[in-house]
Amino acid sequence: MTWPSSSPVRIAVVGSGPAGVFACDALLTWADKNSHEIVVDLFDTLPVPFGLLRHGVAPDHPRIKGIADNLWEIGQDPRIRFLGNVHFGTDITLEDLRRHHHAVIFATGALADRTMGIPGEDLTGSYGAAEFVTWYDGHPDVDPEWDLSARRAAVVGVGNVALDIARMLVRTAEQLEATDIPEHVRTGFGDTAARTVSVIGRRGPAWAKFTTLELREMDKVDGVTVVVEPAELDDDEVSRRHRESDRRAGQIYAVLKKWATAQTEAGHADADAAEAAALAAGEKVVRFRFNRAPVEILGSGGAGGPDAGGPDSGGPDSGGPDAADHVTGLRLERTEPDGSGLRMTGETEVLPVDAVYSAVGYRSAALEGIPFDDSTATIPNRAGRVLDGPDGEPIPGLFTAGWIKRGPSGVIGTNRSCATESVNELLSDLEAGLLPDPESPDPQSVRELLDSRGIKVIDGIAWAAIDARERELGESAGRERTKLPGRDEMLDVGLGADSSR
Ligand code: NAP
Repeated sequence: MTWPSSSPVRIAVVGSGPAGVFACDALLTWADKNSHEIVVDLFDTLPVPFGLLRHGVAPDHPRIKGIADNLWEIGQDPRIRFLGNVHFGTDITLEDLRRHHHAVIFATGALADRTMGIPGEDLTGSYGAAEFVTWYDGHPDVDPEWDLSARRAAVVGVGNVALDIARMLVRTAEQLEATDIPEHVRTGFGDTAARTVSVIGRRGPAWAKFTTLELREMDKVDGVTVVVEPAELDDDEVSRRHRESDRRAGQIYAVLKKWATAQTEAGHADADAAEAAALAAGEKVVRFRFNRAPVEILGSGGAGGPDAGGPDSGGPDSGGPDAADHVTGLRLERTEPDGSGLRMTGETEVLPVDAVYSAVGYRSAALEGIPFDDSTATIPNRAGRVLDGPDGEPIPGLFTAGWIKRGPSGVIGTNRSCATESVNELLSDLEAGLLPDPESPDPQSVRELLDSRGIKVIDGIAWAAIDARERELGESAGRERTKLPGRDEMLDVGLGADSSR
């Protein structure tokens, strides 16, 4: 076995979300098993670790706690040095990391929104999922204000993020009392006006991407009635075969069918009748609408086209917002199944809504100096080895894991196997002596470099101070934690009297 001449082996992991932390775990587990010394510098642009687990998972999902505890435990290993509030590309560059580490793993995730590419997406009241998710999860860099005055909202997409958004839109501040969201967010939910939230699938129910547990949760929110149009559950042969062969698709279909059947048995002729009855009874409604592709977001100033609010619209009701450029409707085109895809029919309708949330998938952002495939919004890679271009050659010492490696798919746990695959590639290069030796392996030199650039690094001690303050804040309100709002507040708490460092 050939080893790098300098020891311990120093790895930089950029991104401290689940994939980054699972990569640390895989490295250190291997080091333990093989009695070798590996140390990791875990960088994050945020002052606190855990990425999407903290700023992407809906706060009303306590099931996630087990994973959070697991990441926390991994993060306590003294061989991991957390270096938060350090932005890759500006505060520290690829060249810097190479100078101080044997290898770098990029695990920066995906928290930008994909767009639908339809007119009207820039209207006020048209939001990307990530914008809303980062707001309610108290991301330190997002505007603390959110307009929850829309009475009717559409959520485009039938994946788990769409479910999170629809569910959060019908939540009350009281229902979020036990969660860790910052106080300004909780207060914001006190102003939620949503009465009807439509969740829009461009294909039929057999092709929805939800997971079963998440879909079932929708029906468990107090004060909310789920509505499904029974006729939209009639599917074609290909869809039927798909849901018969795919367990998850079959379960999703069964849940939707159960809701539709209960509606019919309650005497409602169709989804419109069920929705009207629920609203009249003072319930909020989450309504699933399938086989409809969004083609245009309409605005009150006519921004969405000449026939905004026209004869097919049903017209935005008088209670809607009237700002010149505010969303008033969503034009949908009916679709028909075409194998596993869809065919546009030309038949359109306008759903009168005051807000449109597009939950059509996330996108990773390119990293300075690292190859990026814009068509997939991922780093070109082979099993986690960074390539110099799509179908290119591996770049020695560079690896990737998580959503920036494979795209935004899978549940949090999927990142463990994804990170392990990448780490195995790294370790095989390490064992083969293929990792380039760093010029300056002294751990102090990284810190000195950041200090010399005036970066206010949140290290393990500073993070512990932030964590302690959040637990304290939570405890006083009977919760496990309440997140601190804003980056400045985090830096103040983390660095305290030493905030000049
Ligand atoms: P997703 O599962 O890929 O769903 C995206 C949805 O958007 C699909 O229904 C897709 O429809 C639709 N879509 C895409 N482009 C569209 C367009 N132009 N017009 C209309 N619809 C469009 O993505 P996601 O919901 O963002 O979730 C990302 C990952 O995070 C998933 O793996 C998800 O399971 C995971 N996640 C898990 C949880 C949880 O476990 N609780 C919570 C949140 C997220 P088509 O299928 O027709 O393309």
